[in-house]
Amino acid sequence: MAKAFASTADLTEKQVSFEELAPGIHAFTAEGDPNSGVVVGERGVLVFDAQATPKQARRVIERIRKVTDRPVRYVVLSHYHAVRVLGASAYGAQEIVASSGTRRLIEERGQQDFESEVGRFPRLFEDVAEVPGLTWPTMWFDSRMVIDLGGRRVELLHLGRGHTAGDIVAWMPEEKVVFAGDLVEYGATPYTGDAHLKEWPKTLERLAELGAEKLVPGRGGAAKTPEQVREAIAMTRAFLEDLYGVAEEGVKAGKSLKEIYDEAMARMRPKYGHWVIFDHCMPFDVTRAVDEASGIDWPRIWTHERDLEMWRALEGGE
Ligand SMILES: [Zn+2]
Repeated sequence: MAKAFASTADLTEKQVSFEELAPGIHAFTAEGDPNSGVVVGERGVLVFDAQATPKQARRVIERIRKVTDRPVRYVVLSHYHAVRVLGASAYGAQEIVASSGTRRLIEERGQQDFESEVGRFPRLFEDVAEVPGLTWPTMWFDSRMVIDLGGRRVELLHLGRGHTAGDIVAWMPEEKVVFAGDLVEYGATPYTGDAHLKEWPKTLERLAELGAEKLVPGRGGAAKTPEQVREAIAMTRAFLEDLYGVAEEGVKAGKSLKEIYDEAMARMRPKYGHWVIFDHCMPFDVTRAVDEASGIDWPRIWTHERDLEMWRALEGGE
């Protein structure tokens, strides 16, 4: 029987954790569903990654209200993906912050990405009709921006291309905590459909050099010791290098996408098959890896139609 498309068969609600990693710094994680980071300062609250819809965002707001009644001033977008940004309206924030790279990607492909992601993961987009449209940043920057939340300093850094061309992390230097967005996953499969696979490991090196002792990944539980931070970064990197290695080798040997996909699944499933959304991500991941290994620098835009066509070609059925 053909595999159900992407995560259309995933209907089970996940358990939420809201953990204080340092005074006023919280990790909202949900067993492999998209995470958010929360920082509480004297002047208000900063939320890193908004969730997929206002309904999902309200689950984060509910947790915030258990620890503070201060307003959410900043919603920071780690990158442009719908599952991270379309819940932003629920916070009523003064500012929505992203990198200039992310702003350009929203302009170029935000609408197509919105339609594609809703089709891939319907559970996360329940009540999507409440989304007022694309989420547009009100502030953006090229490589670095510092936000003073009052007694708490948050540095937003674009460390290079990786999961997308515009990823940023939020670094709290005094507490040595970093919110990594989808640049780092922890027990969850990296999605690389819009990635720059050759540069991503170098971006991870710059992230490692920050010396974080705690890290909130894009998906998976928080890393709460320096050892766990190193492990999360190393596991992400190993996955990316294995994936790109298979693609490069296959392209050099003149193999077809389908042949390279089957090879990647055979080699990578024993090592990574137990990670959340492995079967969802791999067809997209291998397709992009083969494109990049074939010299396509700028990721091709995914549309709902292209998603289904690719899935049929690699997995059969629909
Ligand atoms: Zn993403």
